[in-house]
Amino acid sequence: MNKYTPVIGLEIHVELSTNSKMFCGCKNDPFGADKPNSHVCPVCLGMPGALPVPNKKAIESTVLLGLALGCSINRHSKFDRKHYRYPDLPKGYQITQYELPFCYGSELHTSEGPVRLRRIHLEEDTAKLLHAKNKGEESRIDFNRGGVPLMELVTEPDILSSAQAKEFGKKLRTIILYLGISDADLERGNMRLEASVSLRKEGETALPSYKVELKNINSFSFMEKAIQFEIKRQTALLEEGIQPAQETRGWHEQTGETVLQRSKENADDYRYFPDPDIPPIELSEELLNELKAAIPELPSAKVERWKKDYAIEERYGTMLSDDRAEADKWDALFSALKKETVPVADVVKDVANKKTAFTNQTPVAEIHAHYHAKKTADAPSPEKIAEAVATVITENAKAVADFRAGNEKAVMFLLGMVFKRLQTKLGADAIRAELLKQLKKI
Ligand SMILES: [Zn+2]
Repeated sequence: MNKYTPVIGLEIHVELSTNSKMFCGCKNDPFGADKPNSHVCPVCLGMPGALPVPNKKAIESTVLLGLALGCSINRHSKFDRKHYRYPDLPKGYQITQYELPFCYGSELHTSEGPVRLRRIHLEEDTAKLLHAKNKGEESRIDFNRGGVPLMELVTEPDILSSAQAKEFGKKLRTIILYLGISDADLERGNMRLEASVSLRKEGETALPSYKVELKNINSFSFMEKAIQFEIKRQTALLEEGIQPAQETRGWHEQTGETVLQRSKENADDYRYFPDPDIPPIELSEELLNELKAAIPELPSAKVERWKKDYAIEERYGTMLSDDRAEADKWDALFSALKKETVPVADVVKDVANKKTAFTNQTPVAEIHAHYHAKKTADAPSPEKIAEAVATVITENAKAVADFRAGNEKAVMFLLGMVFKRLQTKLGADAIRAELLKQLKKI
């Protein structure tokens, strides 16, 4: 049996939280808090002659994410028309960005290695199709979603496993939430995941000549399962000498399988060209500097700082840094605890392992009292100390002789041996005093 390596790339769409839509003044409310088709105008309904005006805030949010991820920015950019026909797109084309996306390059680190980012561009969302469920019903279209600012991030096919794809998606989502540019709610559909999956023989470096696109996935764990299923399905085909077809598949949660949605024999021809109604976009140095200054400390930097300042383990830091507002509260608590000489790393470990009911709202005094009492309780008793010191003195005659000859370093050595014997450094002052007392008696 051959061994195969997965080749996985991601395309992630995110609706931006702006007040108005991408190219018109209609309210950005894709989930129909009001009734369907209540936020529409000639621009987002695609009426002939209507003029689109780009949303400045949406452009800034896209560039902000690019800067936070370390991407290069196209200071000179533009919007293009992508042509295709579908009922959710009344103009017959979507306004998007083709060869000059706002952001490109850089990479995002995961525990299985870096994933290169190809590009982040901005486009408009399509209307929402409500398909007829029963015979005799009509399919309907809600244009409240049509024209909502939609950011698309595309990775290079660097991802090697379903777990890495999930980690990447979650990491990206956390950064988006830190920046406050979207609610990134997968269930409601304002963050959407697509994965392209193919396999190559282990050791091969060329990209496979096919890829299967997994679409319409609305949770990280469904994405993980769908990729796992695809790897199995494609492995079985390849083992029979069959090349998997180039196609789009969806995830069926009930059966736990991916299902064919559309075969893609030929590449689509979208006849891209620059939108003649929208002048090119120039981003000033000043704006870029303003945006850079607006980037908060990101989760990875926070975890690193916690590691350095409080010796907090990375896995626990990652757990507590997920939500920006909560992380800020932890931050304030950690600094207050450190001032009170409470072992912050121990507190975090207990919180992460659910060994305590303390939260980031618990008063510092309460936590201090608990850990101080624990420290006293865990320290060895005077009898135990005396016994350990006596044993160490008997067993280390040479160090004792050195001490008597005036070698101060011998005390440190003996002290270390006592700590080792007691398996703790708690009560260090008492231990040191007992050691000196017994040494002087010799
Ligand atoms: Zn509109």
